[in-house]
Amino acid sequence: MRHDTLRHSRLDEFRAPARRKPLADKLKLGVVFGLGALAVMTRPIEVDTGVYIDLRTIPISIAGLVGGWPGALVATVIAGAYRLWLGGAGAGPGLAVIGLVAAIGAGGSLLLAGRIASLRESILFSFFVSACDLFVVMILPLNSNVAALHREAPLWILIVFVTTSLATLATFNELRRRQTDKRLKMCEAVIQSLPESLNVKDSQGRFLLANPATAALMRAGPVNALLGRSDHDFYPAELADRFQAEERNILASGRAQMIEQTIAWRGSDPIILSTLKAPLYDDAGELVGIITHNRDLTEKRKLIQALADSEKIAQAALSNMADGLIMFDADLKVIFCNERYRSMFPLTADLRVPGAHARDILEGAIQRGEFIGIPPDGKEDFIEAAIAKLRLAGTVEFRLEDGRWIESRTTISEDGGCLVVCSDITRAKRDEQKLRDLNEKLEEMAMTDSLTELLNRRAFDASLVAEMDRCREVDGDLSLLLIDVDRFKAYNDTYGHTAGDECLRQVARVVRGAARRRGDRAARYGGEEMAVILPNTTASDAVMIAHELRKRVRALDIPHVGSEKGVVTASIGVAVFHSAEKQFTPAQFVGLADAALYDAKAAGRDTVRGGDREALEHDRVKMGGH
Ligand code: GH3
Ligand code: MG
Ligand code: MG
Repeated sequence: MRHDTLRHSRLDEFRAPARRKPLADKLKLGVVFGLGALAVMTRPIEVDTGVYIDLRTIPISIAGLVGGWPGALVATVIAGAYRLWLGGAGAGPGLAVIGLVAAIGAGGSLLLAGRIASLRESILFSFFVSACDLFVVMILPLNSNVAALHREAPLWILIVFVTTSLATLATFNELRRRQTDKRLKMCEAVIQSLPESLNVKDSQGRFLLANPATAALMRAGPVNALLGRSDHDFYPAELADRFQAEERNILASGRAQMIEQTIAWRGSDPIILSTLKAPLYDDAGELVGIITHNRDLTEKRKLIQALADSEKIAQAALSNMADGLIMFDADLKVIFCNERYRSMFPLTADLRVPGAHARDILEGAIQRGEFIGIPPDGKEDFIEAAIAKLRLAGTVEFRLEDGRWIESRTTISEDGGCLVVCSDITRAKRDEQKLRDLNEKLEEMAMTDSLTELLNRRAFDASLVAEMDRCREVDGDLSLLLIDVDRFKAYNDTYGHTAGDECLRQVARVVRGAARRRGDRAARYGGEEMAVILPNTTASDAVMIAHELRKRVRALDIPHVGSEKGVVTASIGVAVFHSAEKQFTPAQFVGLADAALYDAKAAGRDTVRGGDREALEHDRVKMGGH
């Protein structure tokens, strides 16, 4: 910042003249040269008695040459006015000469267009001016005075020519000097305001020229304190010797050299400099010293180091993270991926590298069998779907050939690319499955009777409600068997409770066997009572199934001395629900079956009752009663 301010303030000084109006300058030149012409005209040379000539053409023509038409006009007005005031016979030609040479000057200025005239151009210009002077003398009507002028003309014109040439050259020399001076000052201002150190030393190592940045770098105070002194006056001997040795080297080789160096002295922080040293020759080719330019790289280097450090930290964080990470650009080419990501896909780690396209990676993974469950003709669809998912933020779970589960979470970046974070969720998946299995088991347990392993009462109630609802929907029959072991209290009393339990288990197995079709349900209703729900079963079929069941219980042939039958038997009540019976409740349905069961008991046990009359008829014919 400080350097910028310095630079501007210094350059402003040199910009100021350029802002002056060029017209004012030209008018001023016209006045100066016009007055010059006036001065020349007041001291004419007498060539013959009463015949005068002067050198007015020189300032007037130059006024035009350097002041353009405004300069020419002003000089013409001043000189012309004076000539008019003098009057006499020569006034006309005198005015003509003034006007003509002013025009020649203005024309020359136009041709030069601000350039400094060369020697040839200056001489050519002088030739025209003197020729013009001669021309006017030659066209004067001849009289004794003019004859005198004609006599003197050759010498006079020569004087005009030479003088004009000299004056033109001198004028342009002055202009050139001023221009050079201006440029030099600009150069100096640039050097002075340069934020980088620039200096010139002689062959002995003494400062000839230095800018404030050099003085600041060397902590030398004002620039003047440097001039005439050497590095040894400011740096420790060791450092100064090093610099001098380098410079001697440059002087000996005669070639410029770029050096990068770190310098530290007086306990300061080290500074990193990029230094250019070049030999300096004068116009004659003589070596006059050495130019040194220093650029301070310390801050830049610190920034680069800080960047490298933070990159290292980021790299370490990325490679140590538990998740795999991959970044794609807008064309879905890999920009970056961490090691964890590559190790997650061991079969295609070599394909998952910066520059690779997502499509090529997917194709490779399919080809090498990294993904499972892709049909042979579904490869292209799979790739298209996977590519589409990279264009949308979201989460996808997929399985690899080695059984691992990967979850990938995609986020879309601002530049149209995407960032995908992959996590190995195999363990979570396994735990999830275990939990699901456990839940299923718990549910099953909650529905199962532990002694008989039939559905328990709760499950029976729920099933009956569901089946009655379904029956109403499909417009069919739903049958229910209620089974009660005969004289079971006596069995317990005779054989003990444990044997009773075992007996119940055996009867339950037979009851389960009656629930043959999908949708049939066998349940323990309570105590030694069991039930079978038979969806889509007519009364006659239900009665048939009940008889079959009754026979099978008997066929178990479990001795039961407490029963008049001698073996364990069961009585069965059958009830049928028709979908048309809208108002029929589950309790009424069970009540019906219970009533049928009561009938069976009353009819002497080991028998089936219930169903409709027709079914009972059928039962009597087919099964031959009990
Ligand atoms: P009926 O022929 O009229 O059915 O006579 P019953 O003795 O079978 O009838 P009751 O209902 O009076 O007796 C049922 C018996 O079943 C009473 C009870 O001790 C027994 N019981 C109920 N649940 C269990 C069980 O889980 N295990 C055992 N061992 N016995 C049970
Ligand atoms: Mg009972
Ligand atoms: Mg009983």
